[in-house]
Parts: sequence; C-alpha cells; structure tokens
Amino acid sequence: MLAAQTAPSECSAVVKANGYGLGAHKVTAALYSAGCRRFFVATIDEAISLRNSVGGNFEIYVFEGFMSGCAEEEFDTHRLIPVLNTPDEIKRWSAHTSGNTSRRAIVAIDTGMNRLGLTPRESLLIADDPSLFGGIKVDYIMSHLACADNPSHPMNSQQRILFDELRAKLPPTKASLANSGGIFLGKEYHYDLTRPGAAIYGITEGCGAPRTMKQVVGVKAKILQVRIVDTESTVGYGATKSVPANSRLATVAAGYADGYLRSLSNCGYGYIDNVKVPVVGRISMDLTVFDISAIPADKIAPGDHIDLICSQLTVDEVANAANTNSYEILTSLGIRYGRHYIGEAA
Ligand SMILES: *Cc1c(COP(=O)(O)O)cnc(C)c1O
Repeated sequence: MLAAQTAPSECSAVVKANGYGLGAHKVTAALYSAGCRRFFVATIDEAISLRNSVGGNFEIYVFEGFMSGCAEEEFDTHRLIPVLNTPDEIKRWSAHTSGNTSRRAIVAIDTGMNRLGLTPRESLLIADDPSLFGGIKVDYIMSHLACADNPSHPMNSQQRILFDELRAKLPPTKASLANSGGIFLGKEYHYDLTRPGAAIYGITEGCGAPRTMKQVVGVKAKILQVRIVDTESTVGYGATKSVPANSRLATVAAGYADGYLRSLSNCGYGYIDNVKVPVVGRISMDLTVFDISAIPADKIAPGDHIDLICSQLTVDEVANAANTNSYEILTSLGIRYGRHYIGEAA
C-alpha cells in the first residue's frame, strides 16, 4: 500500500530499533519478499546483524554513518552503505576509496531538525569543493522532516524549499526526504526514494498516515490469577485505586519491564473478546491487574489472555492513554513477549 502511494518514487523501509520493536530480521525478510530492496538502520551493529541474518540482494544504509566510531572496513566487509553526516565523514569515506572503485554513500543535510547531517553552511562549503566527493558515488542526498505528522505546519514546505536550494548546489544525484508523514504530504515530498518506518508498522497517528492503514500488531498478556475481592480494598503499590467488595480482578504477566508503560496505571485498558477491561492500580514491573467484573465468571480463567493491543485497541490508542506516541509503545515491547509472525512458514 505504501509502495503504491509512493510510486513512481521508490519505497524503502526503515527497520531501525529492531524493526520498531517487532523484529528487524522478520520484518526485513517479509518486506524483501514484497519487493523492497533498500533498508535503513540506525547503527552499524544493527546493520551487521541484519546482513548476517537475512539473505538476498538488498542495500542496507546506516543513518549514523561513522558516528558510533566504527571502521570504514566494516562497511565493506558487510556490504553496508553509510549516511555521511559531517564534512569529516565525507573526507574519511572519500580517502578510503581504493583504486578506481568508488564508494557509495548517502549524504545527509540538515534542513531544520538540528540533529544529524551537514548544516546548510557546511553543505555550501562542500559544494564549493567538489573534489571532496572524489571517489564517492552519492546514491542520494537526503534530509529529514521535523513536522511531517502535521500537514499544515509551515516547516514542511520551508524544509522542502531549503532542501531543493542546497541540492541544486551539490553534484546532481537522486534525493530522499519523506518519512511516513512526508509520504502523506503529497508527491512533491516523494523525490526518488521515500523512507517510511512507522506507517509500515501500522502507526497512523503521530505520523500523519490515514486511519485506514492496517493494524499489524497485536499484544496479548496471559492471566496468571483471577481473584474475587472480599471487602472494599486497594490494588497494587501505593494503594492508588480502591475497588468494591466482590470485584473480580485478573492479574496478567506483563508490566513495565515488558514495555507496558507505567503511565498506563489506572488509565490503560485491555479487551477480553469485545469487552473493555480497565487497568486498576499501578502497573508493576512484571504484573498488571485488570478489573474483569464485567466478564461472566465462567468465561474467564487463568491461562486465558487479555488483549493489550488489538483491532479494537490500536497502538495509537494505547499511546494516547499512556501519554506518549506509538513509536515509543512499539519500541518498548519487551523481550519477554513471545513473537509470532502471521503467514510465516512453520
Ligand atoms: C526514523 C527515521 C525515518 C522513519 O520515520 P517514520 O516517521 O517512522 O516513518 C526516516 N528517516 C530518518 C532519518 C529517520 O531517522
């Protein structure tokens, strides 16, 4: 769906942070089968791990370039392509070329994030001395949008115009600007390559994607114990929530150590079939308690599950309840969750 939205611009995939918490190897293999041939990660370690675990003929680009102090040789050994973010990195990569083979790279210019990439002034200095690019084949010049999730924000077009101005001064090559949000800002943001992350993983809010995007993640937590409260009493650390006598409570095996954020205490909720069940009390490290009084007693037992993210309860809604964004919810999903991939050969 994203690739169609992006065409004729090529659609890559951002699989940093373990594929936004979902498993970079599985996500990459699935997207590779779907035709994706360019992948972005943040660090050299993520890149090496991806190269070693997923077969196929595809490019891996490393956003942090040499930032994490790695050696140029590692990029060659594992067929990785750095995103060069500083004049010094450009010099180093250029000096690293041997013989006639040119080294591929992406050059990042910062048009308003003030995070990574050449400043506009540095871009102009580089432009004045094209010999710096000697031996480098620049696959793309890229930049990153600060406010792409908000289509009416003036910074979107400001960044795009600055990007065009700076690009015009640099040696001509392809360009890449749009993350997920950028894709939905319109064709003039697509250039030659788009770089969605969030939208691939079913995040809509906070990345500007339409709500019709398919929800691709579900999270279930196992009920360890069901209890009936004898008398009115409180639940959990700090005794922050009182429940009446005869309340039925289910304790599940998921807590903030699993990325079920503590900020969901007393405000998060889950689903059992189509019934909403609220979190009661504070979320602990390994455990969370839900009030399941609304569920008939014979319908639920230890070993059953409560849905923490499901079709009725999207990752965006969980993020809202937790007062954060969906990116943080997904990238926090803990290692104790078993991960099952639908459609995967057994
Ligand atoms: C993380 C990242 C992306 C992907 O952003 P989404 O909002 O998840 O689509 C694209 N480009 C850069 C430079 C990034 O750091």
